[in-house]
Amino acid sequence: MTTQKLDRAAWFKGTSAECSSDLELPERPYRLVLLGAPGVGKGTQAELISLRLKPCHLSTGDVFRAAKALPASERTPAITQALEFMQRGDLVPDDTVINIVRERRQCITCPAGFLLDGFPRTVRQAEALADMLTQLKVKLDAVLSYDMPLEQVIARLSGRRTCAACKAVFHVTSRPPKVPDVCDNCGGKLILRDDDRPESIRVRMQAYQSSTAPLADYYAKAGLLVSLSAEGSPEDIYQRTAAALSALRR
Ligand code: AMP
Repeated sequence: MTTQKLDRAAWFKGTSAECSSDLELPERPYRLVLLGAPGVGKGTQAELISLRLKPCHLSTGDVFRAAKALPASERTPAITQALEFMQRGDLVPDDTVINIVRERRQCITCPAGFLLDGFPRTVRQAEALADMLTQLKVKLDAVLSYDMPLEQVIARLSGRRTCAACKAVFHVTSRPPKVPDVCDNCGGKLILRDDDRPESIRVRMQAYQSSTAPLADYYAKAGLLVSLSAEGSPEDIYQRTAAALSALRR
């Protein structure tokens, strides 16, 4: 099984950029959307799926983080607007996110397929995506929803400890540092981030549930929703995902 990472130049840079064309492409590309609350391990699954099954990993959060590093002159107006919201800790408004994805619509026709991660986040975004897919004559294979009981997500996030110096991430039970509260990598102090405090986590979860529950219904009605338990190791969850995807093609 090859583990070569796909080039995501077009996704990061938008319309003017092209990805290199000498990569090995899958025989039957997957076109997927990933849903999941913060802390369920959705990002790890996105990495594993894109490395092993080859769909190009299209994360809107990654686009914003990459744009943050660019000089202002190289940012499109839509990206500049998005960064203002992101910096305030808010969700970026639907119209802006939709424009950013539209600017990159050639990625929806990527010969490797695609894996949308972090988009759509609302029913309006899902409707805009449906319009783009219709225009581009592309069909989704499935929407993978990673589910975990709320209390367990809170335990995962509240056990997370981040190095104040190098930002490495540990966990009090599942990835403890060798010396309590000290970073294994640089000796920095490990802290509990403000947004990992149980009170903040609850607020983030509530916001997630109010915007994403309707999205799960939306895709269930379209016959695309595949619900997967997000419990167990990343490899267990990946095996569950791969089995569900091959069942879809049987
Ligand atoms: P993520 O990495 O998906 O958690 O995204 C990081 C941040 O980017 C979010 O907290 C939002 O500010 C913004 N963002 C990413 N995707 C979206 C989206 N589809 N809708 C609104 N905001 C988004």
